[in-house]
Amino acid sequence: MRIAIVGAGLSGLATAFWLQRARPDWPLTIYESAPAPGGALATAEIEGFRFEGGANGFLTNKPDSLELVRAAGAEALLLESSAAARRRYVYTDALHRLPESPGAFLGSPLLSWRGKLRLLAEPWIARGPGDPDETLEDFGRRRLGREFTAVFLDAMTAGIYASTPRDLAVAAAFPLVAALEREHGGLIRGMLARRRRGAGPGGVLTSFTGGVGTFVAHLHRAIAADWRLGSAASAVERAGRRWRVQAAGRSDEFDRLVVATPAYAAAPLLAPVDAALGASLARIRYAPVAVVGLGYRGLAAPLDGFGLLSTSTADLPVLGVLCDSNVFPDRAPPGATLLRAIVGGLRRPELAARPEEELVALTRAAIERALGVRAAPDVVYVRRWPRAIPNYGPGHLATVAAIEAAAAQQPGLALVGNAYRGVAMNDCCREGRALAARLADDAQR
Ligand SMILES: Cc1cc2nc3c(=O)[nH]c(=O)nc-3n(C[C@H](O)[C@H](O)[C@H](O)COP(=O)(O)OP(=O)(O)OC[C@H]3O[C@@H](n4cnc5c(N)ncnc54)[C@H](O)[C@@H]3O)c2cc1C
Repeated sequence: MRIAIVGAGLSGLATAFWLQRARPDWPLTIYESAPAPGGALATAEIEGFRFEGGANGFLTNKPDSLELVRAAGAEALLLESSAAARRRYVYTDALHRLPESPGAFLGSPLLSWRGKLRLLAEPWIARGPGDPDETLEDFGRRRLGREFTAVFLDAMTAGIYASTPRDLAVAAAFPLVAALEREHGGLIRGMLARRRRGAGPGGVLTSFTGGVGTFVAHLHRAIAADWRLGSAASAVERAGRRWRVQAAGRSDEFDRLVVATPAYAAAPLLAPVDAALGASLARIRYAPVAVVGLGYRGLAAPLDGFGLLSTSTADLPVLGVLCDSNVFPDRAPPGATLLRAIVGGLRRPELAARPEEELVALTRAAIERALGVRAAPDVVYVRRWPRAIPNYGPGHLATVAAIEAAAAQQPGLALVGNAYRGVAMNDCCREGRALAARLADDAQR
């Protein structure tokens, strides 16, 4: 059974690892257009600073990343975030500490008394109509009030999806939140019920010594495959019950084809096989993001926690600023500070495409305004992602259902990736493992 995996981001890597574990005798060929695996896991080392171009870690409230790390023998690389990382800030008109307890919440200036009372009324708000395309904004206003939506949901969606409450569908982007209302009639009731069952929120943000790139390198070594790095699949086609993949002027045949690229890359590959499948894949929209990292040798951290997220009304030209050297001390040399700003998203998509110098200048202006840092950085890093994070908006669930139904019509074809059922590292690990199990079982039939 020869398997091709196209795309070696975390989804493709997790699929490859678990499949190899279940079927060590099946030869794997892994195509990756970039010169190295990892995709949105991309650590850059510059003069003693470690900049994350994409993800900087995963949360341990779900088991999927940890299980992959342990199974791959990379436990020694795990690096938990410092306790200080639990302190988070929101920038509205000024910098505010994010309240962590109900008491701190009631005292916080982030909401007016009206906004707080409206939030406390949540348990008495009737269940919604169950519209699968209800936006997070409509859901938030309905259940939690306008103020809470404009501050907390707005900042949170910038932080997770580089999106806005208006652009996301709650059932697709936050399925757990939608389930709390559906199953318990409300969020506060639902959270209390979950807590009674022992399911806590949170988890600890965890990364790897040396950055996420060290885990990617570990997985790369752990997966025995015919690695085709720097080799983009340029076409795929059916050859009877098999699949032919073309890349770098070569053509190879496989019994199973796993497409683990972003949806916008899967679309042109699969459109010639099934035009409707290609069209559905092309419908998945992405938020553009630029990551701007600034390293300061002689600067003490300007903030005592994880970082800040801004709200749309703040008019700050960044979605957030992370103080990575507070969270994972090995990100900067001793005594130095590494700040990383996230720019653009669906809130300000045009900013993500600005030239590097402009991105650095607008980030410095934002950092001066929000954190009072005027010093010039010693080291600068910019990574632009024209299509960074898939946006699970209204229609997403129907699009994914159409993609899955069309793919199921193609024997031997499977799709996996952050475009479909979750964007977090945990989601990619879960989906990759589930696909590997299906592929391994499939052959027994
Ligand atoms: C800026 C940013 C910050 C993030 N922060 C976090 C975080 O802190 N925590 C978290 O859990 N998640 C975070 N995420 C999300 C998470 O990193 C991603 O969802 C996840 O890494 C995506 O993995 P993937 O394999 O599905 O896709 P990708 O990483 O996009 O991998 C797809 C791969 O396919 C390759 N490819 C494309 N076309 C072809 C082709 N034709 N042939 C061969 N190969 C091809 C690409 O080069 C790429 O390597 C972040 C994402 C970004 C962009």
